[in-house]
Amino acid sequence: LHNLVLDLKGNIRVFVRVRPINPKEQAHEVPGEPTCDFKDDNQAGIFDEQKQSRKWYEFDQVFSPSSMQAQVFEEAKPLATSVLDGFNVCIFAYGQTGSGKTHTMAGPSSDPGLNTRVLRELFRIRDERKGEYDIKFSMSVTARSPTTSTHEAEAHGRRWARADRSEIYNEIIRDLLAPSAKKLDVKLNADGSCSVPGLSAHDVSKLDDVLTCIDSAQKNRAVASTDMNSESSRSHSIVTVRTENTFKGDKTYVGKINLIDLAGSENTGKSGVSGQGMKEAQNINKSLSALGDVIQSLVARNPHTPYRNSKLTMMLKDSLGGNSKTLMIVCCSPAQYNVSEPSRGRLSLYLPAGETMSSLNFASRARNV
Ligand code: ADP
Ligand code: MG
Repeated sequence: LHNLVLDLKGNIRVFVRVRPINPKEQAHEVPGEPTCDFKDDNQAGIFDEQKQSRKWYEFDQVFSPSSMQAQVFEEAKPLATSVLDGFNVCIFAYGQTGSGKTHTMAGPSSDPGLNTRVLRELFRIRDERKGEYDIKFSMSVTARSPTTSTHEAEAHGRRWARADRSEIYNEIIRDLLAPSAKKLDVKLNADGSCSVPGLSAHDVSKLDDVLTCIDSAQKNRAVASTDMNSESSRSHSIVTVRTENTFKGDKTYVGKINLIDLAGSENTGKSGVSGQGMKEAQNINKSLSALGDVIQSLVARNPHTPYRNSKLTMMLKDSLGGNSKTLMIVCCSPAQYNVSEPSRGRLSLYLPAGETMSSLNFASRARNV
């Protein structure tokens, strides 16, 4: 029944979460400028008072600024059962830097996000099924990021460069649970599957083990990068837990969950970066648009899914499409200067403008074609 219910809800679901406005942003709100708006539980949009226009988009679920971490988890919770039933699951947080991705996935320790809540649920189900099933978990943590060193990128990307220099040239995958965050690469196997040779997997038997792993991944990442903030906005971080569910020593179901805090989706054209930074930014956007293309293609049931356009989608190939379940949580800022392009004479303050609109557009493209 559980999976029947989920199937009815669809294998790809799109949520939108609008974070609360902060005091600094509140101080810059201008009467009459377009604002972010929501109605019912599943519509979000932009209200333009001057033009008296409202643009509504419909999603599977919309979380308003007052929504709690627990509410978001409630909607994502059935996916934990799917993993233990042998499905591959991806939960993505998408959005511009500062929109609430990390809050939604990792969250503060006082009010944790989906990572902790979903993994805690996995262990809860394991305990519930004890006696009937023997369930083992192992986890990996990776960051897929651009590199700032051209030399490093060249050495690492040579093989890729041959295939397509412009596309995946300076992407690097780091194993955050290996000493000094070892660099790895995605391998395309002869059977069309993809793997990351050398990626370490760590057995975890309780939530504390998971939290310890996530903690050391964070420390490892900090060591590998001088600027954690810019690093986190430029890279995708992926927590993967693989489960092996053996029924009374007989049939084994293998499932996997990927919890992904994506790189910031801000429009590079407007953010003023140039040179190497620009190249990285374009690269990030390429992998995000490659992800969007894959999801759109799956939603449209196209015969060919373009997994090979980025390492991110290659890495996640076995967890996107087919029998897998995907939840995309699109995070948005409600601040006016993020909602739409600023009108003439208004400065874009500290983040690029128009991003909330772009995110809603991305989200609705991922949902209906
Ligand atoms: P991102 O990871 O997308 O760059 P963050 O998750 O770091 O953004 O959020 C930016 C800031 O907004 C942080 O200070 C975070 O604590 C706060 N924030 C984000 N979402 C919420 C929320 N739903 N409730 C309260 N604070 C939030
Ligand atoms: Mg973040």
